[in-house]
Amino acid sequence: MYCVNCGTKLTDRFLEHEGMIPYCKKCGEYRFPTFSVACSMIVLSPDKNRVLLIKQYGRDRNILVAGYISKGENAEHAAAREIKEEIGLSVSELHFNESSYYERTNTLMLNFWCVAESDDLSNTNYEIDHAEWYTLDEARENIVHGSLAEKFLLAFLDK
Ligand SMILES: [Zn+2]
Repeated sequence: MYCVNCGTKLTDRFLEHEGMIPYCKKCGEYRFPTFSVACSMIVLSPDKNRVLLIKQYGRDRNILVAGYISKGENAEHAAAREIKEEIGLSVSELHFNESSYYERTNTLMLNFWCVAESDDLSNTNYEIDHAEWYTLDEARENIVHGSLAEKFLLAFLDK
């Protein structure tokens, strides 16, 4: 690992309460490991009786709307922005549900639930192959099993 600021090779150094942390001797600063941050959303219909599941990337499996959080953007804004961009819907009542680190893409995923202001799915963008409302029980069955999306959805439904 190299310093993000000056490119010097980092060496591990002990930091109280943290353990061994990469350190840049030139900058005199600890450089904590970096990772991406993304958000995924459980979007409920206006009557809160249905959940939005989508299919993407040519894969026949139902997932949640998700996207990376831009540098300088807060997570709540990113969550609402992604839903607007990909589904064409505005949302209200955005609440934090759960988070989980996803090793394969080195991403911390923050999951929110929110309520769409309309159930119109005619304005999805090119990134969405298919979008559909499912009742809460149907969503439980139809979300791709063994995924982070399923873990978030079940945690929400079981609350
Ligand atoms: Zn440095």
